[in-house]
Amino acid sequence: MPELLADHTTLHVGGPAADFVVATTEAELVDAVRDADDAGRPLLVLGGGSNVLVADAGFDGRVVAVRTRGVSADADACGGAVVRVAAGEPWDDLVARAVDEGWVGVEALSGIPGLVGATPIQNVGAYGQEVSETIASVRCWDRQAGAVRTLFNRDCRFGYRTSRFKQEPGRWVVLEVVFQLRLGDLGAPVRYAERAGRQGVDPGARAPLGDVRAAVLDLRRGKGMVLDPLDHDTWSAGSFFTNPVLPAGAVPEGAPAWPQGDDTVKTSAAWLIEHAGFGRGHGDVRAALSGKHTLALTNRGGASADDLLGLAREVRDGVREKFGIELVNEPVLVGCDL
Ligand SMILES: Cc1cc2nc3c(=O)[nH]c(=O)nc-3n(C[C@H](O)[C@H](O)[C@H](O)COP(=O)(O)OP(=O)(O)OC[C@H]3O[C@@H](n4cnc5c(N)ncnc54)[C@H](O)[C@@H]3O)c2cc1C
Repeated sequence: MPELLADHTTLHVGGPAADFVVATTEAELVDAVRDADDAGRPLLVLGGGSNVLVADAGFDGRVVAVRTRGVSADADACGGAVVRVAAGEPWDDLVARAVDEGWVGVEALSGIPGLVGATPIQNVGAYGQEVSETIASVRCWDRQAGAVRTLFNRDCRFGYRTSRFKQEPGRWVVLEVVFQLRLGDLGAPVRYAERAGRQGVDPGARAPLGDVRAAVLDLRRGKGMVLDPLDHDTWSAGSFFTNPVLPAGAVPEGAPAWPQGDDTVKTSAAWLIEHAGFGRGHGDVRAALSGKHTLALTNRGGASADDLLGLAREVRDGVREKFGIELVNEPVLVGCDL
């Protein structure tokens, strides 16, 4: 029986994989990729499947599920903690350990699904933190060169939900991520007003790491942003659209505006969606916006990838019609287009 990709994605959609390989060691991972490349077969590297929308037709090539494990840490009072993590480690397990060990810098990224190897791809971020702030280097298999290469932070071209890995799709297979974390009991200064409010501190203040994690998990659960198999509001790929970055002056009146330090301003995709007339729960019995958060497209149980794509197009087109702003999808579309 071919492996159904719906069983490996948090949207619970996606047809069969022609070939499905589970790689539990780095050597297996590289071999599985190299063999597919030598045979000229299409390849999909899959982590936790929490940022992909896979077509109902599935994937006519090799899917390699990354399941490599291992964390090694070297901590000293001067240099902080240098933590080397295999690509297949669950991200939130790493965050929980960081909070326990007093490693500062990833606590606001609590509760994000998926695996460590995917975090540099779109420069995962939430509540005022991004992984690019703590990634020292990323060890990769370079499919173009057929060699292992280490990219240091400055080589990764990190930006808002983007990186060199996303800009050169398919070239890099992340094998290991090295984080450089400060030591301490207090989290990084709170830069996100909603989180500051929940923690009862002023923006810019610092709170104990454990409190930060608890507050973030609490906020995320309220928005359906922590996976729960029983809650269809979490059968999503997280935020389906990125927040548009616009020239200053192009932000609609009344919309949030976050200056980016150049001539551009970031605004809220959720605000645009709501003000274009798509409220929470908009959709039908199969595919609908989350009942907790308009930015998440969710599978209510029986959705196909086509159902979700139809909803995504309706929302994108509605926002374009109302505001002239083009929303861009955040999850990677596999075998399909918006
Ligand atoms: C409920 C929910 C909440 C979320 N909240 C957030 C959030 O707050 N912030 C945020 O930034 N994201 C969020 N996401 C999106 C997602 O969790 C992250 O992008 C996560 O890092 C994806 O990890 P993954 O292992 O599931 O990747 P996958 O979905 O398996 O893969 C995503 C992409 O990365 C590639 N990839 C995966 N692993 C590797 C590897 N080792 N080497 C090379 N390429 C690889 C895949 O080919 C694919 O293109 C959320 C998702 C859900 C479902």
